Amino acid sequence: MGKEIDIKVKARFVNKIAKGFPLIAKESIGNLNDLQNEGSLVRLVDENNRFLAKGYYGKQNKGYGWVLTQKENDKIDQSFFNEKIRTAYDYRKPFFEDTETTAFRLFNGEGDGIGGLIIDHYDGHYVISWYSKGIYSFKDYIIKALQNTVEVKSIYQKKRFDTKGQYVDEDDFVMGEQPEFPLLVKENGVRFAVYLNDGAMVGVFLDQREVRRTIRDKYAKGKTVLNMFSYTGAFSVFAALGGSVKTTSVDLANRSLPKTIEQFSVNEIDPETQNIVVMDVFKYFKYAVKKALKFDMVILDPPSFAKSKKFTFSAGKDYTNLLKDAISITEDNGVIIASTNCSTFDMKKFKSFIEAAFREMNGKYELMEEFSLPTDFKTSSDYKEGNYLKVVFIKKING
Ligand code: SAH
Repeated sequence: MGKEIDIKVKARFVNKIAKGFPLIAKESIGNLNDLQNEGSLVRLVDENNRFLAKGYYGKQNKGYGWVLTQKENDKIDQSFFNEKIRTAYDYRKPFFEDTETTAFRLFNGEGDGIGGLIIDHYDGHYVISWYSKGIYSFKDYIIKALQNTVEVKSIYQKKRFDTKGQYVDEDDFVMGEQPEFPLLVKENGVRFAVYLNDGAMVGVFLDQREVRRTIRDKYAKGKTVLNMFSYTGAFSVFAALGGSVKTTSVDLANRSLPKTIEQFSVNEIDPETQNIVVMDVFKYFKYAVKKALKFDMVILDPPSFAKSKKFTFSAGKDYTNLLKDAISITEDNGVIIASTNCSTFDMKKFKSFIEAAFREMNGKYELMEEFSLPTDFKTSSDYKEGNYLKVVFIKKING
């Protein structure tokens, strides 16, 4: 680990760090040149060399590292990591005890006190996501801490650093007994086929659990459902199990077809009774308008940024237009479920996109309910940006 390096925090950032802000932003560091090796422990000090916090140096898109403690005497050693993972485990006890949900997040980065580190649990198998070389250098401690805390069947890892945006998945497997894939996990009694060894995405986004349940239990019955940006069709599966008349899942990626068939199949829904379309959603909107297709429920869950052949979608710029497209093919009294994982704007701004879209379409709407991250995706009140998920259920009203 080497010796601790002092980081001089620039004056205008001192208060923020002193109050608990956990990210070490590049622009807050006065002596960048002193940072050499990722994984070095750093002491954040003010201009008078007064101690502010201790953390590690690790470069990721968000910044240059994370604060680990505000206590000067804390040692960053095995027992530090043991304690963090144990606390995270205690907080998720209800999840570990719930036999109907076997896939959830055990450790959520800065929300659990270590930015850049995420650990997800899939029925006794664990996936560790390392967001920088810096945090990866603590690998042995963290794996040991995990083993000290829970019973580990196997561990996989996602190195979300090196390479220029490209994900390499050569050594996803770390240790233990490899399960057969697909591994079948459960969420509120529904099955998911997941692949822990197959690139950055395993087949399900765990943060939408409450949204899926709500769709199944409160909104799907008797409805026609259009699921845009459907990936493996998780929302469609829950809608079908909730009694929807028919689901249509639309995604650009070729893999989405076999993956969606698989998710229906493992839940004993005949995929033939559902509609799965491999197509650009913007093309599908045009197609639906031309064919006068309308839906009782339209789900929008785009990535924050996406490049397709024709143009680049950016949630911050294009969400209003996406909503307008959805409004035009939603039945009166139908529901639009608008979701975004974009951390560059907040719920208030997201609602302003909704307001603008309906205004520009001369439509009326009512907000039914809204969701942010579920409890296992613990966030820190000192780092609001970490609470990225925003989902709003919107009813389109007559006239
Ligand atoms: N709603 C999904 C997750 C969506 S992930 C779920 O609940 O699991 C984003 C998906 O959008 C990816 O599968 C990607 O292939 C797809 N995508 C990105 N741009 C697209 C476009 N223009 N048209 C259709 N799908 C697109």
